[in-house]
Amino acid sequence: MNLLLRRVHWYGENREGVRDLRIGNGKILEVGCNLTRLRPERVLDLSDYVILPGLINAHDHLEMNLFPLLGKPPYPNFYAWAREIYHPESHPVSDTLQVSLTDRLWWGGYKNLISGVTTVVHHNPYYRKVFGHRFPVRVLRDYGWTHSIGHGQNIRRAFAKSRGKPFIIHAAEGVDSVSAGEISHLDRMGVLSSNSVIVHGVALTGEDIRKMCQRGSSLVWCPTSNLRLYGQTAPIAQLKGHIRVTLGTDSTLSGPPTLLDEIRAAHATGQTTGEEIFQMVTVNAASIFGLKDGRGSLQRGASADLLLLPERGESVAQRLISATPSELALVLVQGEPRLAEPLVAEALELGEPKCLVEGAPKWIYGDIGALKKRIVQTAGCENLSRCPNPLWSLLKTKEITEKLI
Ligand SMILES: [Zn+2]
Repeated sequence: MNLLLRRVHWYGENREGVRDLRIGNGKILEVGCNLTRLRPERVLDLSDYVILPGLINAHDHLEMNLFPLLGKPPYPNFYAWAREIYHPESHPVSDTLQVSLTDRLWWGGYKNLISGVTTVVHHNPYYRKVFGHRFPVRVLRDYGWTHSIGHGQNIRRAFAKSRGKPFIIHAAEGVDSVSAGEISHLDRMGVLSSNSVIVHGVALTGEDIRKMCQRGSSLVWCPTSNLRLYGQTAPIAQLKGHIRVTLGTDSTLSGPPTLLDEIRAAHATGQTTGEEIFQMVTVNAASIFGLKDGRGSLQRGASADLLLLPERGESVAQRLISATPSELALVLVQGEPRLAEPLVAEALELGEPKCLVEGAPKWIYGDIGALKKRIVQTAGCENLSRCPNPLWSLLKTKEITEKLI
């Protein structure tokens, strides 16, 4: 879509101000003042809004976001939690697994979209037939991965296959000696490198931080999941400035409903400033995952992955921390609208609102109503109500709002 966004509060290249942005061919073509309209551009007057780069969720398991929170914490480590919750033959895991993989992945896509995420890092295989330009958000495509030391297949082979692309692995997820030994174990295997991305790092020791710094490895921080399962999270205050850090939600099995909740949780730990968190979900993530098309920034030539929020006179970092899914006015993925509030949707001729996000009507990409209906039909209305998925009541569709939760 060709767009001219007028008089929007803008933050880019470390400067703030009011700017016009010209969007076309999926990119930010121009940033300036009083840009003239070119045919056939649609013009939006956005003087009451602030524009931010689309957020990058550095860790999720997209197909696992239909699950409720499971387990009875605290646990010593990930393996103890996984053993306790893995019951594919019984409710609620069995009901959720009735839903097709494609529908579960799409539900995970919507989870990310409603919090302004335009790129997500999915920790599991890349499903070529589902992801791609028709999926609600962009999914990192070039990566190597394995689950963890305990659940991984062949870690050395997975690392070798990554060939310098980000190699993503859960590690040090817990508070016991098993967790505390995992970083040095990875180092001894020769898989701790500049492209290694460690997810969690709850049990990182001073020596681990030194090693990761020396090797140039990065960390994905998931505070909500960590604090819930282990009562502790990664020592971000100690390692920031030495190790590149980004932020991820993990799935709803242990994490928060959305990345905006995770941003607030990260801030509430007192280990980071709002500005640092803003960097984590934008430029840090783009750098760690090798996104070279300008994602995470608002510069001319960058991919037009953007979000719009009502302006409140706050700094961009404060605005991000206070943001809720209901407030999102527009999300663009590669220049195409994926979510819009009714006034913006009308101006862009996108159509009527299709859903309620925290009670606020939104136009949203795709057929969310049909997706929710299929989920209800396969998982069962009663089962979904018995063990509520935290996203379910957050994202309602008109047709079935009455029936569910
Ligand atoms: Zn995970």
